[in-house]
Amino acid sequence: MQVSIACTEQNLRSRSSEDRLCGPRPGPGGGNGGPVGGGHANPPGGGGSGPKARAALVPRPPAPAGSLRESTGRGTGMKYRNLGKSGLRVSCLGLGTWVTFGSQISDETAEDVLTVAYEHGVNLFDTAEVYAAGKAERTLGNILKSKRWRRSSYVITTKIFWGGQAETERGLSRKHIIEGLQGSLERLQLGYVDIVFANRSDPSSPMEEIVRAMTYVINQGLALYWGTSRWGAAEIMEAYSMARQFNLIPPVCEQAEHRLFQREKGEMQLPELYHKIGVGSVTWSPLACGLITSKYEGRVPETGRATIKGYQWLKDKVQSEGGKKQPQAKVMDLLPMAHQLGCTVAQLAIAWCLRSEGVSSVLLGVSSAAQLLEHLGALQVLSQLTPQTVMEIDGLLGNKPPSKK
Ligand code: NAP
Repeated sequence: MQVSIACTEQNLRSRSSEDRLCGPRPGPGGGNGGPVGGGHANPPGGGGSGPKARAALVPRPPAPAGSLRESTGRGTGMKYRNLGKSGLRVSCLGLGTWVTFGSQISDETAEDVLTVAYEHGVNLFDTAEVYAAGKAERTLGNILKSKRWRRSSYVITTKIFWGGQAETERGLSRKHIIEGLQGSLERLQLGYVDIVFANRSDPSSPMEEIVRAMTYVINQGLALYWGTSRWGAAEIMEAYSMARQFNLIPPVCEQAEHRLFQREKGEMQLPELYHKIGVGSVTWSPLACGLITSKYEGRVPETGRATIKGYQWLKDKVQSEGGKKQPQAKVMDLLPMAHQLGCTVAQLAIAWCLRSEGVSSVLLGVSSAAQLLEHLGALQVLSQLTPQTVMEIDGLLGNKPPSKK
């Protein structure tokens, strides 16, 4: 029988909103039309008049892992959005490889995660030259090669800034942008990436040099678009103006930190950039490295990111007085609302990120396929986030940035 993604979440099973989130779609009479997909008959007249309408309503079972099925989003429930005001369509949930690929999780788990993502319509995969010192790109490249999915069916993004120890292997000089990207392509075993990001701003490289180098790599076919990551609004505006002044290619989006507890830039600056110059946003760390889940309730779990070598700062945050107040205490405050909506706190947090203006995609991080399946359920939660619910969340958090008006 077809089991939708939200249904895989154990604690959704007994809740009254289950049918809305993941059960069979109601027929016109309002009743549940019985099981769908997997060879079961559709309810008579259920969900539309013609075969086309029915096809749109009845989810197709996901193809088994390892198949070559393309990621069209049909039957997956995945939503696609334009990347900023470009024509590139990206899944509104993307998969990141930071911490996990080439490091925390085995290559087999990484393949599992990527396969589940692709087969549920995720088409955006993000990495960086610095992740696991290049191993994340290599792992991602190996999996893509073995899967043999059509190159045109997914979007690969990488980030350039920290490439190595030598002075010339860091930053955004023309030299490092070009050589860094060539190194990434070699590890990814790809002819081009879809988007290359400048992984932070670099005041020591002239803006004109950065924009010219990004234009060059695009003109050479090494990347199709470029974007910024952790840049200030003024810097993005400067890059855009430089591109317009010299007939170069402007950035198409900013990779920005945005979540329930990190709101200012995502809500006060990025929407304006989107409206004025078409730069959209791809946001990251929606769960604050896993803190916005119930697993950190008053303790550090035995496994997970906070226990990894090099992530002592996360453990310290969990154990600090400030960390206990926020996010942990606030996460607990959100639990009743999540229960009311029939979802987990993580799903609520991700859905909340998805509703922000100008957000093209939210980058997820997962250490298992089960976590990913949970997060994909956020798509169903999104439709339940009414203005009233969002206002209630704002009330609970008490951190809504002031309106510019
Ligand atoms: P995140 O969602 O904040 O944290 C993901 C981590 O939280 C997982 O690896 C997992 O860690 C834990 N987690 C996730 N789902 C969970 C669940 N349902 N229950 C319990 N724990 C759960 O995302 P992130 O990994 O920090 O960031 C996502 C992506 O954004 C990155 O991979 C990267 O591509 C991108 N990013 C970009 C930048 C940038 O500067 N541009 C910076 C950071 C990230 P454990 O299971 O190990 O605890």
